[in-house]
Amino acid sequence: MSDATEACLAVKAAKENTKLEVICTFTFEKTLQGTYRTMMGLSPEDAAVAAVKAGADIIGPNCGNGIARMIDIVKAMRAVDKKTPILVHANAGLPTNVDGKDIFPESPADMAARVPALIEAGANIIGGCCGTTPEHISAIKKAVETYQAKKGN
Ligand SMILES: [Zn+2]
Repeated sequence: MSDATEACLAVKAAKENTKLEVICTFTFEKTLQGTYRTMMGLSPEDAAVAAVKAGADIIGPNCGNGIARMIDIVKAMRAVDKKTPILVHANAGLPTNVDGKDIFPESPADMAARVPALIEAGANIIGGCCGTTPEHISAIKKAVETYQAKKGN
């Protein structure tokens, strides 16, 4: 999602029609000022507050960014909501188009290396979006397991 009103309507409609958890994620872009906004101008903080107020059970960022930028976005969302689970679906970096084909720069190892920082920023569920492969998800899973083993949980 990119607009608070649309996101809230979607969450409420979903909540009216299922007893399942409802996940609401937003796509952010980094601004020239170094902050993050959706294409409709919504900040991660305002997106988190709006989605939770509408009834979302899980919130987070998806797509539009590689895993490094997701750390900043998760920190911003977590700053305004201490308890709602945050889901992250990062791209495998920002693609460049080479001869008509999108090339994503982040390898499975690149993404896995950022997992501890992403967890410490407040992420609870980590997956992948554009450019990620089963190898990326496997590397992320192993990084989560390694992190949990070190932390004793
Ligand atoms: Zn994507």
